[in-house]
Amino acid sequence: MLPRFITRRFSNDLAVDLGTANTLVYVKGKGLAVNEPSVIAVRRNGGSSNKRVLAVGKEAKMMVGRTPGDIEAIRPLRDGVIADFDGAQAMLRHLIRKAHTGRNLIRPRIIVGVPSGITPVERKAVREAAQSAGASKVFLIDQPIAAAIGADLPVTEPVCSMVVDIGGGTTQVAVMSLAGIVYGRSVRGGGNKMDDAIMQYVKQRHNLLIGEQFAESIKTTIGNAVGDEVAEYLQIKGRDLPSGIPRSITIDSNEVREALSEPVRVIVETVKQALEEIPPELSADLIGRGIVLTGGVALLKNLDRLLHRETQVPIRIADDPLCAVALGAGKALDIGDILSQILN
Ligand code: ADP
Ligand code: MG
Repeated sequence: MLPRFITRRFSNDLAVDLGTANTLVYVKGKGLAVNEPSVIAVRRNGGSSNKRVLAVGKEAKMMVGRTPGDIEAIRPLRDGVIADFDGAQAMLRHLIRKAHTGRNLIRPRIIVGVPSGITPVERKAVREAAQSAGASKVFLIDQPIAAAIGADLPVTEPVCSMVVDIGGGTTQVAVMSLAGIVYGRSVRGGGNKMDDAIMQYVKQRHNLLIGEQFAESIKTTIGNAVGDEVAEYLQIKGRDLPSGIPRSITIDSNEVREALSEPVRVIVETVKQALEEIPPELSADLIGRGIVLTGGVALLKNLDRLLHRETQVPIRIADDPLCAVALGAGKALDIGDILSQILN
């Protein structure tokens, strides 16, 4: 028999992907309601405990690196886990309210995607943040399982599905079969490390200081893991070193690939290691079924080509890689049957 919470009507429930880079909220039966960067801007009023929320999400992200002394733009998650509890709680409360407008009478039950392999203390922090943000009950789901469901993989069947979810802070590899994780590994490193690598490269090669968000936009416009025949160019602006004057230069996609080579190598090695460590029966499955990429970094140009070249396994990018975890956790809510098999 299904547990009572599954048989109950789910009209009020939410699924949350609490990511290092982006937080998404899915409303049961309705779909994605919120998709915002995981950033919160607060104004300090006197004592450090007295903080007022000024902005959350896109608006707060615009403020990163541009705040006057009394305003702080915080990214409450680092490497997939909560690094600033108060910030995470305030951010969640705000985004849950936003998703839940007009449904405020009943406190929602919330399923939250968390990186697989995080510590009990880290899980507890997520649980408490969701509770204090208004959840009546909190369930946790491993992000790679949610991502696989979101990418329509048959995770509850006795066949092997492999997902590589590459977000801002973590690269998670999971091989699943019969609703369980057969192999799981999460390494720190993903899109944020790439942004850092671009900032370092531009500083060392061009004596130019650029901000984190600018580095991110270089990555998403001309970043790549394997070069195409024709290079792409981008004009970038920053602060000249050592003069301190604003200056603009042009960089090309080959330079950006060089800058990204180390963080990209870490991803490739993590995937190769997984392939080496899973049981041979499952490897054989993968030759036919391939690997699915989710998370925003799945969109890095030609990362799929590089992974295919290095592993010889077919690689598919999920239809909506940035939303796969939230869509999968949401689907698990909508189809209680999946939920009963995978919740922990
Ligand atoms: P998280 O789960 O950590 O919140 P996401 O799955 O939302 O992360 O992915 C966010 C990361 O994906 C960011 O580092 C972002 O810069 C990166 N990203 C988004 N679009 C692209 C793109 N087109 N090319 C490369 N990286 C991208
Ligand atoms: Mg994620």
